[in-house]
Amino acid sequence: LITRVNLADRSYDIQIGSGNLAELSSFMRDRCQGSHVVIVTDDQVDPLYADKLGDQLAGDEWEVHVLVVDAGEQSKSVEDVHELWETMLEEGADRQSIVLAIGGGVVGDLAGFAAAAFARGLQFFQVPTTLLAQVDSSVGGKVGVNLPGAKNMVGAFWQPRGVLIDVDVLATLPEREYWAGLAEVVKYGVILDAEFFAYLEQHVDTINARDPAVLTYVIERCCRLKADVVEQDECETTGLRAVLNYGHTFAHAFEAASKYGLLLHGEAVAIGMECAARLAHQLDRIDDDFLRRQTALLKSLHLPTEVPEFDGDELVRIMRRDKKADEGRLRFVLPTKLGHVELVKDVRVDDVLAALKAANAG
Ligand code: NAD
Ligand code: ZN
Repeated sequence: LITRVNLADRSYDIQIGSGNLAELSSFMRDRCQGSHVVIVTDDQVDPLYADKLGDQLAGDEWEVHVLVVDAGEQSKSVEDVHELWETMLEEGADRQSIVLAIGGGVVGDLAGFAAAAFARGLQFFQVPTTLLAQVDSSVGGKVGVNLPGAKNMVGAFWQPRGVLIDVDVLATLPEREYWAGLAEVVKYGVILDAEFFAYLEQHVDTINARDPAVLTYVIERCCRLKADVVEQDECETTGLRAVLNYGHTFAHAFEAASKYGLLLHGEAVAIGMECAARLAHQLDRIDDDFLRRQTALLKSLHLPTEVPEFDGDELVRIMRRDKKADEGRLRFVLPTKLGHVELVKDVRVDDVLAALKAANAG
């Protein structure tokens, strides 16, 4: 399956399917110029996929360099991007070079940012290998790194020349990483597509079994839905792209509160969507059926929906600081029905606390 992200001269294809890695060389050849490829990957993905893909490209007459960073969020740093630039310079990278990210969102964001600024912008490709990267971070052109204590603080919009998604690589993904990616999948259904939400409900077993055909369809739907939003608001200027933040105001607060340091992003998003739905329910924006279906689907995909013991004041303080908040006022993306959300400004603190309490385990 191929879906296209239409952004004038920055348009590109996302190719999704089983066995796609074998086509990497021709996929790139058709979409860029030059033959010097800098592969950026992490030390877990390198032995699984990147190493072989590098050999495959080298065998096809590409000049290949593989740069390996440590797996994990701490590699999304200014220090790492600096090191990439220095190595690229030593390896003779120039304006014709191509950066190829092979890995999860960390590698994609880091490599994309390195590509965006080196020699004022290099051609960039993504082979996302986590479900989160396949349905979310590899689409839309947001690239960047963290500053200490400030996630994604330095970055750019830099669209790739193409994204090649092979669902087969998900077979090696640890369970928790896989489930965490499913939280963003459910999010797309809730915010944009009620039929897709129903499809997910009907395919829980095959999704949990990581069936390649079902995954190909699911990932294509998510990429298409995100692409539709990105096409209308490429650089987050009209506010439309904000719908993608459903569940994320709560999630960012859970992730920032030290107590929840062990939550993966997608796990925090699942709990965040539960809280957002409860908030919407309290404000009479959604019915009981919506709440029941969203909770049931998240649970059936092994995602958490309960807020662990929490300090409401601390969470609200963090939410006010969130860069998506508007001068300390609490704004939430809240659903009105399956497939539709709205941005609600000036939500009352008491309502937020009540939603947290309603989603609390105890
Ligand atoms: P990640 O890149 O850290 O990958 C998770 C783990 O899975 C890593 O240890 C990695 O080595 C391993 N891994 C990757 N692919 C594998 C495979 N096929 N088999 C086995 N192991 C594999 O995490 P992530 O969840 O992919 O990405 C998180 C990052 O994405 C965050 O930094 C977040 O800010 C960013 N993000 C960016 C955007 C965007 O629009 N740019 C959107 C959402 C998230
Ligand atoms: Zn997210």
